[in-house]
Amino acid sequence: MIDSNVTKAGAVLTIDLNALCDNWRLLRRQAEGAECAAVVKADAYGLGADRVAPALYRAGCRSFFVAHLTEGIRLRAVLPDQAAMIYVLHGPHPGSEREFVRSRLVPVLNSLAQVKAWQTLAQWEDGVLPAVLQVDTGMARLGLGEDEFASLIAHPALLDGLALQFVMSHLVSAEAQDDPINRRQLARFQAALAQLPGMRGSLANSSGVFLGGEYHFGLVRPGAALYGVAPVAGQANPMRPVIRLQGKVLQTRRIDAGTAVGYGHTWTASRPSRLATVAVGYADGYLRSLSNRGLASYEGTPLPLVGNISMDTIIVDVTDVPEGRIVEGAFVDLADPINGVDAIAERAGTIGYEILTSLGRRYARNYIEGGRIQPD
Ligand SMILES: *Cc1c(COP(=O)(O)O)cnc(C)c1O
Repeated sequence: MIDSNVTKAGAVLTIDLNALCDNWRLLRRQAEGAECAAVVKADAYGLGADRVAPALYRAGCRSFFVAHLTEGIRLRAVLPDQAAMIYVLHGPHPGSEREFVRSRLVPVLNSLAQVKAWQTLAQWEDGVLPAVLQVDTGMARLGLGEDEFASLIAHPALLDGLALQFVMSHLVSAEAQDDPINRRQLARFQAALAQLPGMRGSLANSSGVFLGGEYHFGLVRPGAALYGVAPVAGQANPMRPVIRLQGKVLQTRRIDAGTAVGYGHTWTASRPSRLATVAVGYADGYLRSLSNRGLASYEGTPLPLVGNISMDTIIVDVTDVPEGRIVEGAFVDLADPINGVDAIAERAGTIGYEILTSLGRRYARNYIEGGRIQPD
């Protein structure tokens, strides 16, 4: 930890870019033969795209995905190489097409209307513009539906002026390896690709990478697994943990058995107890659904969260830690390699993705890269 940073902070979020890059290399090996891109939308799942993307670039990653145009514009400014590819999943909103060209962003075209708008710009620019085409194979969220795709194939001139980089689709349930929807989507995607001979494909998100070689095509698009989220439900997590979250103790107190705690008095001590109040709350993305369910730890000793989570604080039961160890200013672990994002998510009734993207902006952030720890 960096002292100046930590003295002021109520909580410290440490992001291990070495582990992140190891995760990218593991995914690349797993998808050998395909290009391994990185999905860095939503500020790299809350971990800071301006640090995450350049680190991945240094590890060898050359293709990045964001959701919004604005994310793409910011990402272009922090990547060291103008030739690195930035794909924008939402495609161009009407009127925004020129912004893509200005920042060298490649849109994912999700409808015939987006295809036509992009083609119009290509004609206007008197040239050829790169693009990605998304087809819907079951998600019913973004991409050309069956009818739209059929009419595109029937009118190939619709693609004139577009340099299609690849055709993509997105899996509904890839983390559940036995779900039959995976094979149905694979078959639909293969059928769509067969209509565009020689075209590169991209189907796999993190979990899709682990569905086997058939799902890899020319490019894989992992996001969550880069950040340490387990890609396969019910199996040991092969990814390295990337985040550690430590909250600072503001105050400790002793209470008698029978004392109730926090807003709404939802927890009552069943024994004489010692409590510590920690400077992290739901405003920091420590979800309120973890009230009376969350778990912190101190040097390996579990510390149950007691009572309702407040905006700025949680209360943990430190009775099981020898007295005098946890004092004002000490740090307790709220997320660490043992108590990782998936475990927290399960207790909160959500998924690791939401735990990461909810991480608040009040944490002092430190990044580990190479042998160094740097404050944000
Ligand atoms: C978010 C997203 C991904 C990355 O998915 P993960 O499950 O985080 O690996 C890939 N493709 C698309 C279209 C996405 O929206």
